[in-house]
Amino acid sequence: MRSEARGEIIAKSGGDIWMRAPAPETTSLRQVVIAAKGCTACPLYKHATQTVFGEGPKSARMMLVGEQPGDQEDVAGKPFVGPAGKLLDRALAEAGINRDEVYVTNAVKHFKWEPRGKRRIHQKPSSRDIAACRPWLEAELRIVQPDVLVCLGSTAGQTVFGPQFRVTKERGRVMRSEFADKTVATVHPSSLLRAPDEESRRREYAKFVDDLRIALRATR
Ligand code: SF4
Repeated sequence: MRSEARGEIIAKSGGDIWMRAPAPETTSLRQVVIAAKGCTACPLYKHATQTVFGEGPKSARMMLVGEQPGDQEDVAGKPFVGPAGKLLDRALAEAGINRDEVYVTNAVKHFKWEPRGKRRIHQKPSSRDIAACRPWLEAELRIVQPDVLVCLGSTAGQTVFGPQFRVTKERGRVMRSEFADKTVATVHPSSLLRAPDEESRRREYAKFVDDLRIALRATR
């Protein structure tokens, strides 16, 4: 059920309002998931099917955060189940990481898209979308308390480290962030799917797996 969002206003534009999402102060992941289902803190809920919250065990030592759910995630209500998610599964397995033991989520919990014919084309979330949704990510981090946080792509990297952050420059390093003592940034798996040719796809995939191995070593 949706309820009218109330809270600190971040921005207003063209009749739309962005507010800080009303994440409850609780240690229950289940309660946070239920609260997020009815979130209307920014306009993205209006054109998406459902909130796609993070998934994984509360005891996870590693949390991976991407940008936002894609077309298939929006329909399934689960993060990383589309083509990029399948590639992530493969890379995690190759790096020696069990997907069932990690927590996966996104910086923004609703799918932002624009129509192109019958297709729904991904649109990058704006800084106010990210700011509105941030309390949900903060709640996940507060409850799961991962040893290692992995930022997948520039949106996740900038959500954690600020707008100046460049994944291409900082990837594959273990860094301290406000959210975790050990934070590793790498590319988003969807970028591998957009590689222009087979050779660069193979090369970028290998680098991605290397970054995940660095994150795994950091959990030890
Ligand atoms: S994107 Fe985040 S803040 Fe915006 S409505 Fe969805 S859950 Fe709420």
